[in-house]
Amino acid sequence: MLGLYVHVPFCSAICNYCNFNRGLFDADLKVRYVDALVTEIERAGGAGRAGGAGQVRSAADTIFFGGGTPSLLEPDDIARIIAACESAFDVAADREVTLEANPESVTEARLAAYRRAGVTRLSFGVQSFRDDELRRLSRLHSADRARAAFAEARAAGFDNVSLDLMMWLPEQRVSEWLESVDASIALGPEHLSLYMLEVYPNAPLKDDMARGRWSQAPDDDVAAMYLAAMERLDAAGYGQYEISNVAKPGRRSRHNLKYWTDGEWLGFGCGAHSTRDGVRWKNVSSTAEYIDKAVGCGTLGVDVRRLTADERLGDALFTGLRLVDGIDANAIQTRYGIDVWRRFGADLEPFLEAGCLRRDGDRLSLTRQGMLLAHEVMSVFV
Ligand code: SF4
Repeated sequence: MLGLYVHVPFCSAICNYCNFNRGLFDADLKVRYVDALVTEIERAGGAGRAGGAGQVRSAADTIFFGGGTPSLLEPDDIARIIAACESAFDVAADREVTLEANPESVTEARLAAYRRAGVTRLSFGVQSFRDDELRRLSRLHSADRARAAFAEARAAGFDNVSLDLMMWLPEQRVSEWLESVDASIALGPEHLSLYMLEVYPNAPLKDDMARGRWSQAPDDDVAAMYLAAMERLDAAGYGQYEISNVAKPGRRSRHNLKYWTDGEWLGFGCGAHSTRDGVRWKNVSSTAEYIDKAVGCGTLGVDVRRLTADERLGDALFTGLRLVDGIDANAIQTRYGIDVWRRFGADLEPFLEAGCLRRDGDRLSLTRQGMLLAHEVMSVFV
């Protein structure tokens, strides 16, 4: 089944570390953008249908509103976009509909309205439960606002909530990072994503760090942050299923799993990526250009590329290894006709010997220690 991704490129303020496709919220632009999204989605559904009686719409079972800050869209906007998805695709009754939200942009009433609009899962961009760290990241919310947003989500009836946290923040030491991990565990969300802050060369954060003489912890401490967090989450009943993601039983992100299990998805909105039938493409990045082209029925896709058999294999192995379950060499053989051991065995051997990889029958997976060196291991495949 397809996953449907909907990009919302608006934010109330731009965080100093952000490298996403986003801009400042503008009410008029937002209205035109939602119209453009609905047009694009309905057109994509039409393309999926060959026309005529009895033609089957493509099936989808996840919708993911990502951003930017999707919680800046009104619940009515979200309802309209979900309705467009339902009219263009055969969306499963047990669908997962995720909305990314920033803590400062919600109230209990607003969250309840999102729920009525069809959202089933919330993902809050919390990043830290320490106010000093949030200030250094120029986030608009405080730790208390994040806790309040979580309580509002529960009061609005959401039983599937994820929190994003970031480690390796400026001036953050291991114990401070673990405060945020413990604070998250205390709230009891169903899902957590733990990312490492990446300071991009042109990010304003780089200048802020120089001015404030803020530093990031040494590499050994980052490894300690990751391993200690995962141990605490294990003990609290969360199962790690991907390098950066843990979930309570039955609460893995069904949408994101499509990216890691060789699945197919369509992305709508400016800069959104799609992969379907071995073809990968990206929509134009600029919001204004996207609106013009979507409404004017112009071509939205750029960088349209049919993947070679080798690229598809490399992607399946590369993304599959992100999962704790790893890669099933038998399934790869069936799908791509490649014997993983014969083709990559010699290159993988040193990682197996070093304890970064584990082989269990036909399965190949990263050990937790190996997850810290994931990029090195995965480079074998690409
Ligand atoms: S809220 Fe998210 S998308 Fe928006 S500027 Fe901050 S990090 Fe970037």
